[in-house]
Amino acid sequence: VQTIGILGGGQLGRMLSVAASRLGLRCHIYEPGAAPAGDVAHAVTNASYEDEAALRAFAESVDVITYEFENVPTSALDLLESIRPIRPNRRALAVSQDRLTEKTFLNEIGLATAPFADVPTEGDLGGAIDRIGRPSILKTRRMGYDGKGQVRVGDGPAEWTGAPSVLEGFVDFSAEISVIVARGADGQVAAFDPGLNVHREGILRTTTVPCGLAGAVTTDAVLIAARIVSALDYIGVMGVELFVTPRGLIVNEIAPRVHNSGHWTQAGCAVDQFEQHIRAVAGLPLGDGKRYADVVMENLIGDDLGRVPDLLRAPNTQVHLYGKGAPRPGRKMGHVNRITG
Ligand code: ATP
Ligand code: MG
Ligand code: MG
Repeated sequence: VQTIGILGGGQLGRMLSVAASRLGLRCHIYEPGAAPAGDVAHAVTNASYEDEAALRAFAESVDVITYEFENVPTSALDLLESIRPIRPNRRALAVSQDRLTEKTFLNEIGLATAPFADVPTEGDLGGAIDRIGRPSILKTRRMGYDGKGQVRVGDGPAEWTGAPSVLEGFVDFSAEISVIVARGADGQVAAFDPGLNVHREGILRTTTVPCGLAGAVTTDAVLIAARIVSALDYIGVMGVELFVTPRGLIVNEIAPRVHNSGHWTQAGCAVDQFEQHIRAVAGLPLGDGKRYADVVMENLIGDDLGRVPDLLRAPNTQVHLYGKGAPRPGRKMGHVNRITG
């Protein structure tokens, strides 16, 4: 493999391409928007997932295709896959694109999820609430991220999301953690240390390692993540989000790509999640992701960007800016990795 195609030109695609460049590999980025985040070479911009000629030319210009965005339309994937391999594979994409298939798959391989019910239309909501109870959370099956497309169902009348959804029982968790796990083309599995995640308004704010939980919990989390990637015959990095409860770990969701809660690995490990993903999809051996520092990763969201002058002067602090232009409320503009020990 010499050239890797990346579907999506956001910050994840950009950090993947930087990691690839360090290994002497080239990246071509396929970005539907007007510009990729920051300054990335070889980007096809304003590129539609309906444009067969553009998709074909892109696929032919690379050796393998990966993605930083899991909601690529099926028709585009079919065309791309007829020309070059897609890693992680189509099954991983299909399972994680849709919260209903995702939770069904997780239960099938013996993992616990929140109790859930299919809510195809608004008319099905009442029956679903009768089965799952309150409080609960209604989530669109597809396309949601950063808490978008979600409605809390409390005591009052329930709002409709406007699209086919799942209703999830509310999990009374004591903590949220995630495992960034990798599986190589040779089937080898490696996981980074689980991180403790804090969300505000549905958006990840901080990830802290070590997560401070008992070894039995973190070991269980890693074993769960390994079970998921093995069951999917997965190649690449996956983010697995988990709720910690008194009755054990519950899988919230999986992301078939590098994950925001894995950004701490840039400051904490010799090989970070981006390089690990590139190694896997390029068919190279996985690297050593052992953690050698304590790190707090903080997202810079919207106006947090104003803190950058101070952050640039802060000790033990690695600043990452995505080059997205003017900040907007709720938009991830960058992140900082603070080495705390
Ligand atoms: P991401 O940006 O991580 O993809 P998302 O939009 O897919 O987010 P979820 O991860 O489903 O959203 O939910 C966002 C947050 O809302 C969770 O991290 C958790 O804090 C809370 N949450 C989601 N589902 C539940 C649940 N069933 N019970 C309790 N809290 C929940
Ligand atoms: Mg999600
Ligand atoms: Mg999530």
